[in-house]
Amino acid sequence: MAFREIIGQEKAISILKGCIMKNRIPHAMLFAGDEGIGKRLTALNFAKALNCRGTGGGDLFSAGTKEGGAAADAGDIDACDRCPSCTKTDRASHPDVFIIRPEGDGGQITVSAIRQLEESLSYKPFEGRWKVAIIDNADRLNQSASNAFLQTLEEPAPRSILILITSRPDVMLATIRSRCQRINFTPLPVDLMQELLKERLEKSDSDKSTLLSVLSGGRLGHALDENLIAQRDRSFEIFRRMLGRVEEDAWDDRDEIEMV
Ligand SMILES: [Zn+2]
Repeated sequence: MAFREIIGQEKAISILKGCIMKNRIPHAMLFAGDEGIGKRLTALNFAKALNCRGTGGGDLFSAGTKEGGAAADAGDIDACDRCPSCTKTDRASHPDVFIIRPEGDGGQITVSAIRQLEESLSYKPFEGRWKVAIIDNADRLNQSASNAFLQTLEEPAPRSILILITSRPDVMLATIRSRCQRINFTPLPVDLMQELLKERLEKSDSDKSTLLSVLSGGRLGHALDENLIAQRDRSFEIFRRMLGRVEEDAWDDRDEIEMV
């Protein structure tokens, strides 16, 4: 996958491409927005584009111009999705790309994970131009991890980029937020979602794509990854039971319930 295949986040992606084109990459970025709208995919593909060895990768845009002197165009920037760097990033085996997630019963990002990350970032990139650390669900940094992470932000390792991902930026420490360049991700409009879902659903089903567009609140990843219609049906069942109307004929038309 590459930037060109990410749907509905053109604004965020154009900012990121601009950074690569100008070779001015912020040390720390905060990707903020609802769950399921493409923040992780964008972060991963940013890492790919930065280190890509192919025709559209960051390797060729290091001084704002392409190799050979032609003017760089942000539209040209993207991962090739084929070179060793791109394929390793996809397989989570690139030695310069790190992904930190909440772990354990408490679902938190711990101080030891941050210390380990700091250690990894302290070395020069092994094969890429950049070391990229993606901190997923960054709002789950616990207290001591947050303090340790502040130090990471204040003393950036050379040629390293931190990407924090969150759907709840407001619960993060203000001191962490203020040290990151924020990029907002927004849900897709329902009519655009409907169009895109129609294209992607195996059997184009207009009613189903309309329903999914509304149920997923403009979050394409959410609409495609989860069986929202089944989830809705389960909710109806619970609703029926709550009302003590479990007879099969209690509600002949489910759409009728939707209007309740
Ligand atoms: Zn590549």
